[in-house]
Amino acid sequence: MIDLHTHSTVSDGHGSPAQVMREAAAAGVDTVALTDHDQIIGWDEAAAEAAQVGVSLVRGAEISTLTDGVSVHLLGYLFRPAESALLEFLEGTREARLNRARKMADLLSRDFPVDWELVQAQAGEGTTLGRPHLADALVAAGVVASRDEAFATILNPSNKYYVRHAAPATALAVRAVIEAGGVPVLAHPFAVQRGRTLDEAAIERLHAVGLMGLEAYHRDHTPQQVEQLRGIARRLGLLVTGSSDYHGTGKPNRLGEHYTSPEVLAEIADRGALPILRP
Ligand code: AMP
Ligand code: FE
Ligand code: FE
Ligand code: ZN
Repeated sequence: MIDLHTHSTVSDGHGSPAQVMREAAAAGVDTVALTDHDQIIGWDEAAAEAAQVGVSLVRGAEISTLTDGVSVHLLGYLFRPAESALLEFLEGTREARLNRARKMADLLSRDFPVDWELVQAQAGEGTTLGRPHLADALVAAGVVASRDEAFATILNPSNKYYVRHAAPATALAVRAVIEAGGVPVLAHPFAVQRGRTLDEAAIERLHAVGLMGLEAYHRDHTPQQVEQLRGIARRLGLLVTGSSDYHGTGKPNRLGEHYTSPEVLAEIADRGALPILRP
């Protein structure tokens, strides 16, 4: 079982990188990608534990990007970690997310018993801050019962507490992943419940600058959307991946609930600059 999209406490997952590796092994996942939002500091801890528990590790990240105002998540796999353009993107986005979280915390503090300190207490050193951490602060303060409730109500983009953050253009991020020797794959391209999504023409333009795959098998897609994405991938010659987008206890997603074929994994391994770490 190959699961190419998971999160740890390095971004908005609820388990440490090592814990995610242990849980992957326990769930019968033999190859797992750690793809924290805009951050790669979890790679080493994950690698050490993956070797211990006997799972193969694909090192990656989920990069926040924007196309015409649409928030687009780009998975990058097996890229060289020291490549400057890509690292600058990740660092810039983390900084923008930090400022945005502080602004949202200030807005929330006017109406709820949460403040910036409480939000910071929900995240570790170097963690990419997102709305999930604001949600955790609201849960800690007893304002809502769960992350889910926070997202459905207070943290919804239509609400006055929502603030946007800057991110690189998707096409530039695709180029940066390729220049760093990595494999760029669009995460959950048609997940409409997260907001506006790209259309087929936009995916075609990203393909023209080097996009290599579409994450079709994902819980946020209907069977019709999966078929549509498979059709686009077939037409453009893109890889089709699947994943759980695991966030630990932060989301209902279960490890291995959607997965990627061994043939596609072999293709990703072939194209990536870094090896898959095998136990
Ligand atoms: P942000 O990018 O900071 O605006 O927050 C979006 C992140 O929140 C995504 O990475 C999702 O994984 C996460 N997210 C979205 N909806 C939910 C939800 N209902 N419960 C928990 N996490 C969510
Ligand atoms: Fe997330
Ligand atoms: Fe995502
Ligand atoms: Zn994700």
